[in-house]
Amino acid sequence: MIQIAGYILSGGKNRRMGGEKKAFLTLENQTFLHRISDALSVFPSIYLSVDHHEPYLNQGFTLIKDTYAYVGPLGAIYTGHTQCSEDALFVVACDMPFITKETVQKLLDVFHVHKKTVVAKTKEQLHPLLAIYPKEVLPIMKSMLDEDNYKMMDFLKRIDYEVVELDASKKDTMNINTKQEYEQLIKQKQMLSVEEAIDVLVKHTPFYEVSEEVALEDALGKVLAQDVISKYAQPPFPRSPLDGFALRGEDVKDASKQHPITLNIIGEVYAGGVFEGVVQEGCAVRIMTGAPIPDGANTVVKQEHTTYDQKVVHIMEGSKPFENYCPAGEDYEANEVILTKGTYIDGINIGIMASMGYDKVLVYKQPSIGIISTGDELILPGASLTKGKIYDANRYLIQARLKELGIQTVFSEHCKDDVEEMVAFIKDKAKDTQFIITTGGVSVGVKDIMHEVVEQLQAEKLFWKVDVKPGSPTLAAVYENTLLVCLSGNPFGAAVNFELLVRSVIAKLTNHKQWNMKKKLAILQDDFPKQSKKRRFIRGYYQDGFVSLLDANQSSSILSTFIGCNCFIDIEAGNQGLHKGDQVWIHLL
Ligand code: AMP
Ligand code: MG
Repeated sequence: MIQIAGYILSGGKNRRMGGEKKAFLTLENQTFLHRISDALSVFPSIYLSVDHHEPYLNQGFTLIKDTYAYVGPLGAIYTGHTQCSEDALFVVACDMPFITKETVQKLLDVFHVHKKTVVAKTKEQLHPLLAIYPKEVLPIMKSMLDEDNYKMMDFLKRIDYEVVELDASKKDTMNINTKQEYEQLIKQKQMLSVEEAIDVLVKHTPFYEVSEEVALEDALGKVLAQDVISKYAQPPFPRSPLDGFALRGEDVKDASKQHPITLNIIGEVYAGGVFEGVVQEGCAVRIMTGAPIPDGANTVVKQEHTTYDQKVVHIMEGSKPFENYCPAGEDYEANEVILTKGTYIDGINIGIMASMGYDKVLVYKQPSIGIISTGDELILPGASLTKGKIYDANRYLIQARLKELGIQTVFSEHCKDDVEEMVAFIKDKAKDTQFIITTGGVSVGVKDIMHEVVEQLQAEKLFWKVDVKPGSPTLAAVYENTLLVCLSGNPFGAAVNFELLVRSVIAKLTNHKQWNMKKKLAILQDDFPKQSKKRRFIRGYYQDGFVSLLDANQSSSILSTFIGCNCFIDIEAGNQGLHKGDQVWIHLL
């Protein structure tokens, strides 16, 4: 087995960073160093190549001081190989904060096939600092160092290597060289993409794997916390699929209307009963659907293909052995895993578990999820509408959507646009709630209180703003052990971000992956001539590979054009307008 270690290059003067160590720059609350070591977590050891030890002590890494410090990475990789016992080093520069586990695996897969140096490549560019170098290249490195040639590209010219093409848009190979580049990155990062926001949210969603036993009747809409195994074969005995006569197929194979075959009736058996005897040659037992087929018999002839009296039956159509015969275990055998842990329990699954004789089943406990709507303008449906007020729609919509996802909310309340009131309310509720969803108050207006609320709670802010229209100002934070997702107040903005973001949280909290939105390609059936500066999600109706727009009015503040919507059409930023016949991505509700 080839031993490989992760090797993060952290040395260098970092002149263009004003001397700041790039390894300690942060992105989404994590140092570059930790982001990279996360991506390298498949390796039993990760070494840090450093120019000197001091700033890197106590970070949990084994440090390797570069004997060739300040002349570039070639010496650092050489030093690594001379000091580590592994056969190969998976090298990553410490300024590549976007490297992912998938990319690491891609390079590894190629290395395991070819067993020689593997270098990442995007478009026409090679990335020698995202590469795997086996020990075999040491002599060439040494000779280059002896020549004072430290150029990685010259080194690559002298060795044999494989390249792994990476998707340039995925940023894996992007490295941060200057302070300006870093600042630019942070600025962009303030607005996460939908996918990044989902990642951050899921990372901060606690695992909730508490299970409880419930009566089968109460299991609907819950998620299985156990594999469900058949205790018996189903059916437990060979049974008749018809009303007719159980007999030996051999006895009647030549029977026809013209030449009926006559058998003696030796008994009868109905569903639920048993015929204790054995069916011998020339005999038949009258049988009804669902009854056990008696020993000796191997098929059933339909009653409609016979005439009979008390004593004999005339068979007028032949039947082969096992033709009309449901064997024991036709549905499933004993000790088969029929439903797996993590399955959502729907009506069909309830029926299947009943067929197996389960009266109780282990399910995941429901996570505690609460909703708060904010806004002084909101009144409850049913109250009389006064000037300046509107009915609170978001809270009802979200509560009902959660119900459709099998979640009974533990509270659903309205709060005034009052920071103190909201802070007190969340503090009180968070104690027993894993996840709180709020709507309203996240933009930049005077009454947009949620920023101040998060601050006063001293909650850890995860992000504010997602690069999506509508509903971009989504704010997310963690208060003690409770995740807060604060959606925009605009009803359609709240709805879109509920589906795009909140559902992933629900999927993890309920242990039910199906709740994640599913994407697929579809052909657009209408024009949508508007330019979209930002990535935009609009209401659509999908059927059989085609998607139509529901309404020209896609405003985020209106709900009525959401009626009948079963998907969102995903329009990328910078799109100049969509046309009938275009292929588009849709996200199914
Ligand atoms: P906000 O995000 O609080 O600035 O609200 C944006 C818009 O959505 C305003 O027009 C609000 O009146 C409206 N809005 C806020 N919350 C709700 C709600 N729960 N139901 C219906 N409309 C709302
Ligand atoms: Mg408001």
